[in-house]
Amino acid sequence: MVESVASEPEITPPCQRRTRRLESTPNRVKENEKIMAKKYYDHDADLSLIQAKKVAIIGYGSQGHTHALNLKDSGVQVKVGLQPTSKSIAKAKKAGLEVGTPAEVTKWADVVMILTPDQGQAKLYAEEIGPNLTAGKMLMFAHGFNIHYKTIVPDKSIDVTMAAPKAPGHRVREVFTEGGGVPGLIAVFQDATGNAHALALSYLKGIGCTRAGVLETTFREETETDLFGEQAVLCGGVSALIKAGFDTLVEGGYDPENAYFECLHELKLIVDLIYRGGLAYMRYSISDTAEWGDYVSGPRVIGAESRKAMKQILTEIQDGTFAKRFIADQNSGRKEFQAFRKHEEGILVEQVGKKLRAGMKFLDPVTVEEVEKNV
Ligand code: NAP
Ligand code: MG
Repeated sequence: MVESVASEPEITPPCQRRTRRLESTPNRVKENEKIMAKKYYDHDADLSLIQAKKVAIIGYGSQGHTHALNLKDSGVQVKVGLQPTSKSIAKAKKAGLEVGTPAEVTKWADVVMILTPDQGQAKLYAEEIGPNLTAGKMLMFAHGFNIHYKTIVPDKSIDVTMAAPKAPGHRVREVFTEGGGVPGLIAVFQDATGNAHALALSYLKGIGCTRAGVLETTFREETETDLFGEQAVLCGGVSALIKAGFDTLVEGGYDPENAYFECLHELKLIVDLIYRGGLAYMRYSISDTAEWGDYVSGPRVIGAESRKAMKQILTEIQDGTFAKRFIADQNSGRKEFQAFRKHEEGILVEQVGKKLRAGMKFLDPVTVEEVEKNV
């Protein structure tokens, strides 16, 4: 059951965001400017704190394997928690890690990081983790969903923190082994011991995030911005934009392969430019015709109606409506979820794309079926 959203943490993070009026300052984008959140680097964190603890990593997937291996390389005692039937047990053992059930490793550990899929965490917590968390231990998350929407309500006697690398799990490991790190987020929801922040920061040093910079946040902010970003822009927004553009060309009588290149393939090239130099660098690189079209047509595609929809999406994230529907479907056999998935597999842009990518070996094309077979 998703209840109303969790209240904000009672503790005060070391550096709260403040708002400053800048009306009298010339040449600034008017009105309120948010002072940036506090950032932490290697020299702000004490690795010995986490090295003195026993850390259980629950799950050995995208984030799980990365946290476990990075911490081990940083000299931390780690055990991995998996179900007895898990196919990942062999993988974790091969990497030199000790494995137990989630209940066993929670009992053993001082710090327990939950890195299993968000929708199953409440049940796992209720059955195996919660009952084995004694006072003074620290429970950790890489995403605030279950705490923020109160599907997990930990006992007041334990610390509850977040260490969230801002990158896909496999990338976090790659960058770490090359000597670098990816940026991360830190948040404290509950500070029973008085040491929660320092220990969470030490953990983030252990996985390499303080090499790149760790940003102070709250469970609420991380959860709501993460859900909004993936729904409105990164996943939902982008796939809807691709499909609408592709369909418009095909319905206009144009060749579907041509439409695929225009509306999907080239997106990567444009995003690479934006990633490196912002919108200005992308516009610098494209033709003046394309730049003019950007100014006059972009706001017609994402106009007042889309902005209104985005505000509504944000409201439904904030009031728990989105989480309720997601969890209800997950708890009743994922019928809606599977129906969406099945429908999307069959659409023309996906069919055309599969064939075209198979002919472009330089892309290193993959299909979900191949990846599933090889794990
Ligand atoms: P994932 O790859 O889907 O996690 C799968 C792992 O969890 C597998 O090892 C699986 O075991 C294990 N697992 C599933 N149910 C379990 C259970 N009941 N008991 C024990 N182990 C169980 O998950 P993820 O994408 O890494 O996400 C983990 C957390 O990190 C989530 O909170 C997510 O929001 C957050 N996060 C993820 C990313 C990312 O890059 N993916 C980025 C930021 C934050 P088997 O091997 O047996 O299947
Ligand atoms: Mg995200």
